[in-house]
Formats: sequence, structure tokens, C-alpha cells
Amino acid sequence: MASSIHSCLLVAITILTLASKTTLALPEVIRIGGLFDSSDPMPESAFRQALDRINENGRFLPKSNLVSLSERLPPNDSHFASRRVCQMLRNGLAAVLGPSSSSTSSHIQSICDALEIPHVSTGCQSRLRRTHYAINLHPHPTALGQAYVDVIRTWEWTAFTILYEEEEAMVRLQHLLKVSTTSGYKINVRKLPQTDNYRPLLKEIDGKGERQIVLDCSAETLAVVLKQAQQVGLITSSYSFFITSLDLHTLDLEDYKYSGTNITGLRLVDLNKIKAANLTKAYSSTSRYYNPAVMNPNATTFTTETALTYDAVHMIAKALGELDRSQDVRVKPLNCDGTDTWIHGNSLINYMTLVEMEGLTGFIKFDTQGYRTFFHLSILELTPEGLTSVSSWNPIDGANITRPTATDATPLLADSLVNKTLIVSSKLSDPYFMLKESSKMLAGNDRFEGFVVDVIDEVSKLSGFKYTLQIVADSNYGSLNPETGEWNGVIRELQDEKADLGIADLSITYDREQAVDFSLPFMNTGISILYKKPQKQPPSLFSFLSPFSVEVWIYMCAAYVGISLSLFILARLTPLEWVNPHPCDPNPKELENNFNFLNSTWFTIGSLMQQGCDLAPKATSTRMVAGIWWFFTMIIISSYTANLAAFLTIERVESPISSVDDLAKQTKIKYGLVGSGSTGAFFRDAKIANYQRMWQFMEAINRSSTPSNPGPFTKSNMEGVKRVQDSKGLYAFLMESSTIEFFTERICDLTQVGGMIDSKGYGIAMKTGSPYRAAISQAILKLQETNRLLILKSRWWKEKRGGGACKDEGGGSSAASELGLANVGGVFVVLVGGLLIAAFISLCEFAWEARQVVNEQGGSFWKGMLREFRSAIRTTGNSKPVKRRYGSSVPRSESKL
Ligand code: GLU
Repeated sequence: MASSIHSCLLVAITILTLASKTTLALPEVIRIGGLFDSSDPMPESAFRQALDRINENGRFLPKSNLVSLSERLPPNDSHFASRRVCQMLRNGLAAVLGPSSSSTSSHIQSICDALEIPHVSTGCQSRLRRTHYAINLHPHPTALGQAYVDVIRTWEWTAFTILYEEEEAMVRLQHLLKVSTTSGYKINVRKLPQTDNYRPLLKEIDGKGERQIVLDCSAETLAVVLKQAQQVGLITSSYSFFITSLDLHTLDLEDYKYSGTNITGLRLVDLNKIKAANLTKAYSSTSRYYNPAVMNPNATTFTTETALTYDAVHMIAKALGELDRSQDVRVKPLNCDGTDTWIHGNSLINYMTLVEMEGLTGFIKFDTQGYRTFFHLSILELTPEGLTSVSSWNPIDGANITRPTATDATPLLADSLVNKTLIVSSKLSDPYFMLKESSKMLAGNDRFEGFVVDVIDEVSKLSGFKYTLQIVADSNYGSLNPETGEWNGVIRELQDEKADLGIADLSITYDREQAVDFSLPFMNTGISILYKKPQKQPPSLFSFLSPFSVEVWIYMCAAYVGISLSLFILARLTPLEWVNPHPCDPNPKELENNFNFLNSTWFTIGSLMQQGCDLAPKATSTRMVAGIWWFFTMIIISSYTANLAAFLTIERVESPISSVDDLAKQTKIKYGLVGSGSTGAFFRDAKIANYQRMWQFMEAINRSSTPSNPGPFTKSNMEGVKRVQDSKGLYAFLMESSTIEFFTERICDLTQVGGMIDSKGYGIAMKTGSPYRAAISQAILKLQETNRLLILKSRWWKEKRGGGACKDEGGGSSAASELGLANVGGVFVVLVGGLLIAAFISLCEFAWEARQVVNEQGGSFWKGMLREFRSAIRTTGNSKPVKRRYGSSVPRSESKL
């Protein structure tokens, strides 16, 4: 017995001696209390893992084993938490860690303060001051606030919206708010609603044009907010989000990485250290506890709290090691209701504030106040490759973000067209963008069909993006208000970033190019006139007069009278027309002339009517006249007959206008155009006098318009088409030729009048500087080269929606026109020529006769001529006295006057 007591004493002395030579002995088992929120198993797991590593490693506490006493707490139950911690303290604890929830943590903190037990927390606390026995590994709110300010300053945000979830966030955001007030930034501060439907708030933000958003909420809420932001159209390249949560990296951002949205966040944990410590594997199994909708099992799920818990255990171990060097540490059970305290608590907490070490959350060091104000943050940006660290922040150097330059960014964003969902705005207009006719209830893009719907579909397939079609809110194409300088319609929606693309029968114009960007044109067109087809004229009573113009008829009448008179005169002058009325009498007293006035007119009309008559000219002159008249009548009659046949077989269609100039010159036929379109802009800005006059005319009518008598500017092409249809030819609509072609294929009493007065194309519009322009233009070129655009045009113009209805109607526009003087004038010339020659011959014959008479009766030639002339004129009736021997050259004495 005595020997055994002796040997025991020896062992004790030896141990004490050894202990005094190396370290003051820590108890073999040191208990650390851990309190964790029940919702997240990972911090607890990290706590145990860290203790195991420390025990295995033996670097910090070679002789002691750290033992965990941990508890999962229901959320916000401080009473339960206090009871549990008191139970733990009865076992003797060197430190208490957690929980992260702010309210529960402050209860635990006060218990620990009372018992002088160090309390280590890892959550972001709302209290700026710490109590003596508390230490927090989470970066201090003021330092975090400084990081936010630095990031926002680097981005040069001057107007932004702060969205926060809990009031405590204001502690972190306080610095940002203060700086913003002094720097004159425009800030809107909004609280996320308590429900999980954030869409109304997000829509309101969108409606107010707030594009830069600072989002302060937990990782779980963040996932929901981002999803809903995408649903209401905020995840586009025009939005920027700055996420203050240090857990952004734990979210699945796959759906957003091609959106071009600027999503930026901060990360405290050092993923490389986690990998180096071979911890990812160890913890990945626990990730299954996470809501898979929130957490991506493929990405690292190492939350900041987990990493901080791991670091906290190491910090406690390190501080214990330091404490062990200076004091003989004993851990004793404590009663929450007692007055006893732990005498080493004070020293241990002091050692903790002096700790400097590398942890999973970077370099850990506390300032003189015991706050973690020095830390490194990685600045993360979401790119198509995922969340990428673009820079880092620390309180000394601030943020040093090198954003990609424009040239670098373009290919990056062009790539991001792939898988991106673009909002495509369009205006309802046949056949480009129409509502589908269906008995079923349709939703989404299925509601629409038309040429541009097919074009955007083909373009999207070639470029790899998805799209959502929407009808432009104000039903306008886009026109500039010269007074306010503001656009409306599709152009405005692109400017306001309510749509990414605009596609319709939207013309590329100079003015619009200043406001938005256009792709290459996918269809060419130009302004022309839609008008009622001229109606077939009922055959007129006097249509037989139609082959000749009025002029020709007058000339013909004149020719008839002239020829009849000429024949009459020449026949009187020529002696050969004076014939013996009684052929049996060789010496007639009188000679007779058959061509009296009546006979002459009868002869001419008989030949004109192709009937002939009994009279026949005998003298060369009169025969000449007759011959030439017959020639004239032959040509005239055959021309008349030929043209009459054409007139009787071809229907005569006449249009009162045949060009825009015709429209400009008259006021009877009213005209109009689409109010908010490029056609209106063309006439408004026209420099050509006729077009200017037309614009003034339309404006004047517009000013005097009333609801019952609407002005010339319509809301749509369809409205214009209806007006033309109902107008009975008193209304013409200025419209683009491609659209006219569509309507004239279906409404057969409408037609295009005249050619195009300008030339332009329809393009896909997008906001200025859009990175999608090149990709979309390339896709359009491809569609052109593969004839897809032609096929689509033929489908929508000729086949679908009643195409081809007017196929048989076209073509009959060539009407036979009357023959003018230019056509038959030559006949009149021949007629006059012949007449002159006949007159000359007649003169010669007359002179010859006069000479014969002079030869028989004597006298001078000129006197004989005069005498013969007088007798020809004076002679009444058809007979004249014989002056020389009838039928011989020998003058007869008895025939003398
Ligand atoms: N294509 C026109 C535009 O883009 C609309 C129709 C018109 O003005 O005739 O505005």
C-alpha cells in the first residue's frame, strides 16, 4: 500500500516537473460549446471538422483534446438557446461559439459576459460595439460599408436603388448612405416586402427607370429576387446589380450568366484555401440539406458562415495555446444562476484579439478594439464563364476594379446572345405581325404569327437566342416629336430598354438611326399609292366616234367640205368637165357640167362612205381630186375600222390619277398615311414642292378633323385600306409598296397607282451600341443567301391569309387609245397635196381652153383668159354657151357670143 502511494507521488512529481519544463498544463479535455441555427447543417459540420483537424494535427494544443458540445437551435428562440448554453456550461466550457442569428446571439453573449466565458460569433452583427467577452470574426459592418462605397465609386454610379431585406442592413449601408448624401448621389431606398413575391416592387423599379441596384439580403432571398427579376425582365444588359451578401458564390447563376446583366458581388472566403485544406469533399455531402433550387450542388457551397466557423475554432485553439503558455488553465463547470466566473476568460479573450493567422476567410487580425476591420474581399463579376473574381478589396488599397474595355466587351456580349432571352417589340400590322386566329386560348409567342415573326424566329435559331414577343404599348412604329425631341412607339421602347429588339414593317430612316441601331434590311420597299381600281366604263352611245379624236373628226369634216368645193370649182374651170348635153347634136349650143355643188358633195360623200356614185370626173384635175380623195378615204376608213374593232373588244378603264404628282395637283381625291410612320416623316421633311404641298394639304385637313370626319393620319395601314375601299375613288392612301402588294393580292378592287417615290428597307432595331447588331445582321445575310426571306415572303403574301385571291384580275390595263392627228395626219397632207396638184392642172386646162378660144376668135391671151374666167363664174346652172367649135380645134363662127 505504502509502496503504491509512493509510486503514485513519484509519477505526479515527474509529471509536474515535466509540465513546468515545457508548458503549463491545459486540461486533457477542453470543451468548446457550439450553437448553430437548425436551418443550416454546414457550420456545425465545419465546427466538428475543425476540432477534429486540430486534435489530429496537435500543432496548437499538443496535449489537449478539444471536444465539441454542440446544439442546433430553432430560429429566434432565445429562451431555448439560453437554457441549452447553461446546460453546456455546467460541463465546463472554454468558449462558446455562435449562433449566427443576431437576436439569439446577443442573449448568449450576455450570459457569457456574466460568467466571463469568451463568446465567439460569426454572423454579421448589427451592434457596432462589442462587449468585453465577445469577439466576432465576421468583418465589421463599418469596414464592409467602406467596401461598398469603394465599389460604387469605382463604377461611378451616381444614381442607384438600395433594396434591403432587414433593418439591420442599415448598419452596413449607413456609410454608403452618408457618402451618397454628401456626394449628391441620387438614391432610392426600398425595403423588400415580407412576402416572397417581389415582382410588383421589381416592376415598379423597372417602370421608374432605376437601372442600378444595390441588393442587400440573405443568399436564400437573393436567389428568389434574382429569379423574379428575370421573370419581370430586369435581367438584361441594361441592369446592374451589386450584391452585398458575401454568399453570392453559393448560388446557381447559370440562368443569368448569358444575360449581359452586370451582377457583381463580394466574397470573403478563399476558395483556394478550402480546396487546399481538402475541405470541399468533406462538406459537399452536407450540401444535400440545401434547397437545391437555391444552392447549386455543383458549385462550391462553402458559405461564409461555415468558413468563419472553421476559422473561429482555429482561432480559439490558437488563443488557448497562447494562454496555456502563460497560465495554468483550468476549465470548471459554471452555473448560470451562480456568481462564480471563469478566471481565465478575460485572458483568453485578450489572446483571441491578438491572434493573427491565415484562415479560410483570408488573413485574420483584429484591430485594437477587437473588431475584424482588416480583411480581403474578392470582387466577383458574373460573366458567361460564371462568377469570376475581377479584383479584390482591402481597407488600405480600396477597390481596384479593371472592367473590360469596350472592345473586349463586345465579343463577350455578342457571345452572350447565346441562350439569352430577348424581349422583341412589334406593332400589329398585316402581314408582318398578326394575332393568330385560333379557337384555343393561346399564350406567349404562340399568340402571334406573320412574316416578321418567322424572320425573328429564323434569326434567333441562327444566333442562338430565345425571345419573347410583345406588342408595342402605344401601337406606334416610332416618330419623333420635333417639339419635345422624344420618340414614341417601338423606337421609344428600345430607348427605354423595355425591349431589346424591335421588328415590324419598321423602316430604316436617317432620323431613327440617330436614336437606335438597325440591322441590315430584310425587305426593300418604297412609298406608293393604294387606290381603288378604275371601274369599267359602260359603253357609250357614241362609242363609234371613239376611234378618232374630236380633232380628227373636225378635220375630216373640213376635208369633206373642202374637197367637195374644190371638185365643184375645178370642174367648173376645167373645160373637159363641160360636155355636150346632147351627144347626137354635133354643134350643141350649150355645154353641161355634171359637177354642180350638190353633185360634188354627193360624189365626195359617196366615196367617203365607200359607196361610189354615178358621177365620174373626166378632166385630169377633177380625177386627180377624186383619186386623192379616194386614197384619203381608204386610209381613214381602214384606220377607223381597225381602231373601232379594238375599242369595241377592249373595256375602257380610266383612273383619275396615275402618280403622286397627279394627287398633288388636285384636291377632289383626298389622301392620307399612317400617322406615326416613316411615310409621314418623308412628306413632313420633303424638299420637293409637290410633296410639301401634299403635306400642307394633309395637315390642313387634320386641323379641321372631327371625330366623325377623321383626319388623314391613320393609326395603321389597315385603317387606310378600309378608307380606300369605302371611298368610291375619292380617297387614296400613301403606303409602302410591299404592304400594297399584300392587300392588292387579297382585295381585288384595290390597286397600286404609279411607281415608288422613294426607296428604303425594313430592319431589326435595337438600342444604340447594341452588341447584338453584328450577329443579327449576319443572320439576315444568311437568310437572304439561302432564299429563306423570299420563301417567307411568298408564304405570307401569296399563300396564307387569303393570298392569291386576285390572280385572274390583273393584267387588263392596256386600253386601246383613240387615233390622234399624229396617227392619221399624213392622210390629210396627202389630201391637201393632191388638191393643190389638181388645182394646178385645172389652171393649165383653163389656160389651154382660153388660148384655143383666142386662136379662133382673136384677141390677146390674157383678155381671152379673163373672158373665159368671167363666163365660168357668171354661168348659172350647168350650161354655158359654146365659144368655139365643139370637139375640134377650128373655131366656129356661129358659136361666138
Ligand atoms: N414602315 C413604316 C414605318 O416604319 C410604317 C408604315 C408607313 O409609314 O407607311 O414607320
